[in-house]
Amino acid sequence: MKKVAFYTLGCKLNYSETSTIARQFEQKGYQKVDFTETPDIFIINTCSVTENADKKCKKIVKEARAISPNAYVAIIGCYAQLKPKEISEIEGVDAVLGAAEKFRLIELLDGFVRPPQAQVFASNIEQATNFHHSFSYGDRTRTFLKVQDGCNYNCSFCTIPLARGESRSDTLENILAKAKEVAQTGEVKEIVLTGVNTGDYGIINGKRVHRFIDLIRALDEVEGIERFRISSIEPNLLTDEIIAFVAQSKKFVPHFHIPLQSGNNKILRLMYRRYQKELYADRIRQIKTLMPHCCIGVDVIVGFPSETNEDFLETYNFLNELDISYLHVFTYSERANTDALKIKEIVPHKVRNERSKMLHILSDKKRRFFYEQNIGKIATVLFENDVENGRMHGFTQNYIRVSAKYDPLLINEIKTVLLTNIDTNGFMEVEEVVESNFPNRIISNSFTVA
Ligand code: SF4
Repeated sequence: MKKVAFYTLGCKLNYSETSTIARQFEQKGYQKVDFTETPDIFIINTCSVTENADKKCKKIVKEARAISPNAYVAIIGCYAQLKPKEISEIEGVDAVLGAAEKFRLIELLDGFVRPPQAQVFASNIEQATNFHHSFSYGDRTRTFLKVQDGCNYNCSFCTIPLARGESRSDTLENILAKAKEVAQTGEVKEIVLTGVNTGDYGIINGKRVHRFIDLIRALDEVEGIERFRISSIEPNLLTDEIIAFVAQSKKFVPHFHIPLQSGNNKILRLMYRRYQKELYADRIRQIKTLMPHCCIGVDVIVGFPSETNEDFLETYNFLNELDISYLHVFTYSERANTDALKIKEIVPHKVRNERSKMLHILSDKKRRFFYEQNIGKIATVLFENDVENGRMHGFTQNYIRVSAKYDPLLINEIKTVLLTNIDTNGFMEVEEVVESNFPNRIISNSFTVA
């Protein structure tokens, strides 16, 4: 039995796809092993957004070769689609597969016999029109279920449309069937809906067939899954209808991750984003009016070309005033074949780094404030399979990271807890509570003061 190991860089979508490809291997009789267990085959799933994608890819290939010098090494993922030739020239690589080919890996590589020279199977991205359903299973306490792929937005800084192609989705029927399949394992408590532009869900064969709200309404009825989480949603697609639905949903948790990218309208225009800061602020207000306890994460890019100090400070102040819970800060970096390269006023790297630091500090402040607002409230926590210095972790519905004394019986369990205080690492400490002691309180998506 040949042994195969996987390494995944990047986003939840990549994790769901790696997991699906791993199941294909297992169905064909291969044994899935850890990276260090001298595999016969390595599959490395790359990311184009990751900083220094090329260096990371080279490093992983080198490590793979050191572990199993004669193993077969195949590279897939966004970076493989964008730079197939460059990757094929990395020493130790045997094959590179693009977006349209990665799910046919076993068939295309036929027996995994090392070729004298790396083989490249990467068609133009226009050929990547099929939707391959994927979900992660068995690696984590949560399952990432892919509902949508590709993007038609073409933001001026982003290579994802070039790496993943046009927006396309799975059918509602297929997604429901997959969610039920996951539920029937009896092991998964939470499903995270994953896509490139998740809120654009519903385009099938180039035509809009469904809307995102149809999808979440249908999933809310799936039995056997306790929580659904939306990985990320563009502000212009986050409608009042979606917010109102989540606010009253039994299973969709009060947590949104909404890319902002800049709090300055000139920069938003240059980024080809489809909204202005006023719309974003309105979305946050709407969410917080219906769900005061909702966690809101924000993506933001610093150092986009032509971003002046004043522009950045406008973003900083905008974020500072918004009722949000944390930031994911990205430092702008130049990407081949993107329109942002045409803007000549480059922001020096030193300035980009300084802005990034300022926003990281702001993010810590926001997170702490959000956690403090939740002390004394009752929540449910899904505990994860991790242990560090005798402690384990989990997340509440509204994405507060909880720390508790390690107990293997808690892994993958949902417990009702009282949020007590923030520890020195910034995690929430909790005490378990018995629901029957709180007979008048509804403990679901809503939170009540203890
Ligand atoms: S919405 Fe913009 S940033 Fe997001 S994947 Fe699409 S093109 Fe990239």
